[in-house]
Amino acid sequence: MPETTRFAPSPNGPLHLGHAFAALTAAALADVAHGGRFLVRIEDIDTSRARPEFEAAIFHDLAWLGLEWETPVRRQSDHFEGYRAALDRLEGLGVLYPCFCTRRDIEGVLDAPHGPEGIIYPGTCRHLSAVEAHARLAEGRPHALRLDLARAMALTGPVRFVETGTPPVGGGGEIAAGHAALAATLGDVVVARKDVPTSYHLSVVVDDALQGVTLVTRGQDLFFATPVQRVLQDLLGLPVPRYHHHRLIRDEGGERLAKRRGGETLGDLRARGVTAAQVRARLGFSPHPAGSAPPTP
Ligand code: GLU
Repeated sequence: MPETTRFAPSPNGPLHLGHAFAALTAAALADVAHGGRFLVRIEDIDTSRARPEFEAAIFHDLAWLGLEWETPVRRQSDHFEGYRAALDRLEGLGVLYPCFCTRRDIEGVLDAPHGPEGIIYPGTCRHLSAVEAHARLAEGRPHALRLDLARAMALTGPVRFVETGTPPVGGGGEIAAGHAALAATLGDVVVARKDVPTSYHLSVVVDDALQGVTLVTRGQDLFFATPVQRVLQDLLGLPVPRYHHHRLIRDEGGERLAKRRGGETLGDLRARGVTAAQVRARLGFSPHPAGSAPPTP
């Protein structure tokens, strides 16, 4: 079935085989030959780490792999005002609170709960009195905005989504998640960072809706982000895509490539004389772009 899919890299390092697999998967599932759309989105809200040379290298690598995508490409740092509007809407619903904690403060909480993604925010600033929060805001103290998950889910109820891929836990099909499940995985996520009026979760849901993405394809490592993104979609009245979480490419030692820096990049492979056809074949795709085979899950 033709879909609108996207490959959404952050331009803060070179692409490696894990990215190539993600991009090829998204393109194959779009099925452009039968009317689907394949988009590339540059996720550069972390302006301190994003670099124009990495962005240029991303386009170079994707073209080398034989991919074609629609232009103009959406670059998140060009749209901070749009994210601010979504943030205002969430504020209007009373589901956000300012968080003044530093990473160190959070890591220093001895009994902080842990989820599959590490420490879950222990809710320190959720318990601040309104007077105290206002005083700190008036002082101009740097703060993020967090989603008050309990309040948010009192409005949305449990969330549901259709999974067409291979999630890290459970099976595919319709997945439902209630407050307890979200509280035990990601908790009160940041929706606006201290430095920019958005966060990974907020920009992704705004953009996926705005770009008409029908099937969100991404690695299993982002599976636990999906329920909280579903909550944001419901709060903002956005359409709900389906989700395809795919396997992660690992090196011979079983380590995830996606986390590795300084390992073998697509540029390194190319410099060693490896061809795009060989990369495609190694990842389970047809060596020739025109006859892209569906990915192996
Ligand atoms: N930008 C994210 C990454 O680099 C992917 C976002 C998504 O697919 O939702 O891992």
